[in-house]
Amino acid sequence: MDNCIFCKIVNGEIPSKKVYEDDSVAAFYDIEPQAPVHVLIIPKAHFASTLDLGADTAQVVGNMVLAANKIAKELGVDESGFRLVMNMGRDAGQTVPHLHMHLMGGRSFSWPAG
Ligand code: AMP
Ligand code: ZN
Repeated sequence: MDNCIFCKIVNGEIPSKKVYEDDSVAAFYDIEPQAPVHVLIIPKAHFASTLDLGADTAQVVGNMVLAANKIAKELGVDESGFRLVMNMGRDAGQTVPHLHMHLMGGRSFSWPAG
């Protein structure tokens, strides 16, 4: 999609520090990390949020989770624990309207989320 930062990262127009890639998803380090490990996992196809997914496309979230598992192991937070977060819309504080999952680890997190 035109003018979407994460679509531009997928097609290489904007640089990123890639962590993982397969046919369906890409992952790269967050530019403003909020934890020692902070990676964003995105579908290569543009969806604004999970609200745009249907029965034919919902598998992309499963693919994101499988990528998160691999990355958590690769970056050594699988045993210590990690948080997966997807912000949807205004009240959740979503700032980039391309579906993404935050993988955060390397420190402990409070609950409930602020
Ligand atoms: P959210 O607030 O859930 O929409 O998260 C968007 C995230 O994207 C934030 O954590 C930003 O720091 C991150 N971000 C924005 N632009 C870039 C970029 N060019 N490369 C990497 N991360 C980015
Ligand atoms: Zn996009």
